[in-house]
Amino acid sequence: MGTEKQLKPCPFCGSMPEIIMCDLVAFDNLQFGVTWMVTCRACHTKKVTTAKYRLAFDETAHLLRDGKMAVIEVWNRRSEDGK
Ligand SMILES: [Zn+2]
Repeated sequence: MGTEKQLKPCPFCGSMPEIIMCDLVAFDNLQFGVTWMVTCRACHTKKVTTAKYRLAFDETAHLLRDGKMAVIEVWNRRSEDGK
């Protein structure tokens, strides 16, 4: 995917962080989420967001909110702010 955002280095130590898919969370019978985490192994900074999906009647999952893109944006924004 050419539109995928690139992670910026850690705002605290400058190391390259990793992006990891963690937990699957069920909201109810039809909606579930997947937790994405950006973590810096060097200084243990992390940011977490949850992607949200809704199951259709044919059991295909529709993405409601892309947690992977969201966590990259949050991480990069902090990197730019220098906070
Ligand atoms: Zn770091």
